[in-house]
Amino acid sequence: MIVGVLKEIKAQENRVCMTPAGVEVMKQHGHEVLVEASAGIGSGFSDADYAAAGARIVAAPAEVYAQSDMVMHVKEPQPSEYAMVKPGQIVFTYFHFAAEEKLTREFMKTGSVAIAYETVTGPHGGLPLLTPMSEVAGRMAAQEAAKYNERVHGGRGILLGGVTGVAPATVLVLGGGIVGTNAAMMAAGLGAKVYILDMNLDRLRYLSEIMPKNCTPLMSSPAMIRELAAQADAIIGAVLVVGAKAPKLITREMFKGMKPGCVLVDVAIDQGGCFETSKATTHSDPIYEVDGIIHYCVANMPGAVPITSTMALTNATLPYALQIADKGWKAACKENAGLKNGLNMVGDKITFKGVAEAFGLPF
Ligand code: NAD
Repeated sequence: MIVGVLKEIKAQENRVCMTPAGVEVMKQHGHEVLVEASAGIGSGFSDADYAAAGARIVAAPAEVYAQSDMVMHVKEPQPSEYAMVKPGQIVFTYFHFAAEEKLTREFMKTGSVAIAYETVTGPHGGLPLLTPMSEVAGRMAAQEAAKYNERVHGGRGILLGGVTGVAPATVLVLGGGIVGTNAAMMAAGLGAKVYILDMNLDRLRYLSEIMPKNCTPLMSSPAMIRELAAQADAIIGAVLVVGAKAPKLITREMFKGMKPGCVLVDVAIDQGGCFETSKATTHSDPIYEVDGIIHYCVANMPGAVPITSTMALTNATLPYALQIADKGWKAACKENAGLKNGLNMVGDKITFKGVAEAFGLPF
């Protein structure tokens, strides 16, 4: 198969969908890889790195689309690309169709086969192509909480880990899933006193087994959140209720009982946010203040660390890309039910229930 690696053109997106190491493996499997010039620059890979791994560098996205059987991206193709997509061409990337009606309807017109990273499921369930980005965002959340607690950034001026003879900061993590677990681990690793709350007893049991002594997993309830929010120097929001907007667990009213300068990091902002006062921010203007409480609500946190994010994402996507390239999408989806769950669109037919339901389209 000829596999095309496109350069990301969405604003502030520096990741790339395949590393030179991935190109080498594709080549070993007998595939040809076309890489759009400067596709890897934002992630630290030069065209020469890709060429050395066996890729053919092409100047423009139109050439990648015209010559490839399968094209790969990180983010959804942008409007300037729709006309370049060929009927029958496999497009493998994050699409998030259900959130974007225009993208869905425009893509149906391309006649392509759209396989979405975000709906591929793993052999034991879960969303293996979303997990790495949750890990990145969770770990970053602890870093951002530490940074914005510094006085120069408007914070309380407290070091997360404290020092000898001085108490550490208290960090409250709401949600003990992938994001929350990674955030709590990092905050605990820095020496903070950490509480992690979840509503799922099995998850709390697991967290109790794996977390270090300075991290306490507790059952989430409004009373528990109120009590711990009053003690917190930083609160990390990492809840997810599948198929619903995030619940507002911290209200503006509660700010009155909280420490001035407390930092709220709302990782769940892409699902509407779990603090009443959250609104999405960007890396170029990440924080704002409400009643003395600092809010960090960047919707694409992994974009700040493209080198790590690219490696983490491509570690997860490459095995699926290889299956598609080796067998063709039909046979690959027949053999791997999890990959089949990634199939969102074949020609003008929607093949993923959630997308069809979102826009009243036939399924
Ligand atoms: P996950 O499903 O692994 O974990 C969510 C957890 O929240 C679950 O364990 C669930 O039991 C718990 N939960 C639900 N309601 C709760 C409540 N009231 N109190 C306490 N816990 C509750 O999800 P995840 O992968 O950790 O993702 C969390 C959120 O982070 C999602 O909204 C995801 O989209 C978002 N995210 C954002 C970014 C970003 O850049 N901002 C990046 C990655 C993920």
